[in-house]
Amino acid sequence: MRFIIVFVLLWSVGVAAQSKTPLSEHEQFAYELFKELIETDTTHSSGDTLALAESIAERLRRVGVPANDIHVIEHGGKGNVVARLRADKPVGKPLLLLAHLDVVEADAADWSMDPMSLNEDGDYFYGRGTLDDKNEVAIHLANFIRLHREKAHLTRDLVIALTADEESGPHNGALFLVREHPELVDAALVFNEGGGGMIKDGKYVANTVQAAEKTYQTFSLEITNAGGHSSVPRRDNAIYQLAAALSRLEAFEFPVRMNETTRAYFEGIAAEETGERASMLYGLLDEPPLIASIDYFRNEPEINARLRTTCVATQLDAGHAENALPQRASATVNCRVFPGVSVDEVGEVLFSIAAVPSMTLTPKWDALFSEASPLDDSIMDPIREITTSMWPGARVLPTMSTGATDSTFFRSNGVPVYGVSGIFTEYGDNRIHGRDERMLKRSFYEGLEFLYRLTRSVAVSKDLPATPTTL
Ligand SMILES: [Zn+2]
Repeated sequence: MRFIIVFVLLWSVGVAAQSKTPLSEHEQFAYELFKELIETDTTHSSGDTLALAESIAERLRRVGVPANDIHVIEHGGKGNVVARLRADKPVGKPLLLLAHLDVVEADAADWSMDPMSLNEDGDYFYGRGTLDDKNEVAIHLANFIRLHREKAHLTRDLVIALTADEESGPHNGALFLVREHPELVDAALVFNEGGGGMIKDGKYVANTVQAAEKTYQTFSLEITNAGGHSSVPRRDNAIYQLAAALSRLEAFEFPVRMNETTRAYFEGIAAEETGERASMLYGLLDEPPLIASIDYFRNEPEINARLRTTCVATQLDAGHAENALPQRASATVNCRVFPGVSVDEVGEVLFSIAAVPSMTLTPKWDALFSEASPLDDSIMDPIREITTSMWPGARVLPTMSTGATDSTFFRSNGVPVYGVSGIFTEYGDNRIHGRDERMLKRSFYEGLEFLYRLTRSVAVSKDLPATPTTL
């Protein structure tokens, strides 16, 4: 009896051990980087991106990246680190691997665990930045160091830029580098956050490539009036005029637009659908798009926002006393402008729709004009090939973000950027910026492999084998 129990125990231990594949040296290295990153606070309020940038620079020096190719760029107390692996005879400008060091605030009281620790539970890693964006920092950094150690025969310089102030703060990160240190981050193309894969009902459905994003511009719409005593109301009243102007804006829709990316996106999602919904999606692809299709998706915010520029009232401020006529009424109108559309033109349209004589409409800053990046075969083919070999049946799906990332600062300079990661999440389980942010453990290691292969395909010679090495 005792013998049988021991045997059963050994057998079950054996099964448990087999069910978890041991990590390779490269995976273990990436995991340790990831843990260090998550456990270093880089929030705007209490964190320190400069300390993290310096620690990454030190690590790069330790593995033998030449010191004069490693730059810690400090500005406004924030830190960025940029490093370069050089090609002997570059055939073109560098490939830039971009990711951000800073994270959104995380109040430990709201979380089920310490957000500044890499927590592991079942299939998941938990912690602030596990999905946005320390996973990509760890992956790009691990792959950059791997290619350095392998003495990979680069066809172009490989640059990594790990930056501050993506989530909040006054642009001491990517925009600062583009404007003040263009020689460090000039590139033929950039890989950044913004893409990822989707798992639905356990199936790897789509690997998305973010090739465009809308331009973010906020306008202040202000109406002034002579005002007076509220016991003697005037016919013109700034609050009523503002309310009427906002009602006209509410009823107005910008025209439907399509670009190469959104067309490929709608084709992709239409192919996954059946019945009426599929035919309505195909109707969007008609030229011009079918009115019935536009009507069908008008009340689906996720689709409607990908079809046109949108502007929406987000804040109100009016009046100075309950017994006085308002001398001033203002609204904040936030616009997400379709790539290729001029922000000035959007302002002119808003002004003419609001149509109040004494109104001013003021843009809050000089928005950057950013075009969609081209879906060239030279980039899309390797993405498709690697996706098919790693996840047979998963579709490569180009996407346009309705929000904005640091990619804007490169696209506005005409540099193509692709938000691509090969990091899959389960449908409906997006906890970016939220509580208990998490990512699938296996997605971390799959993304590591995907981006390693993709980086090689763009920046490493296919003719010359890499020098074998251990990590
Ligand atoms: Zn991010």
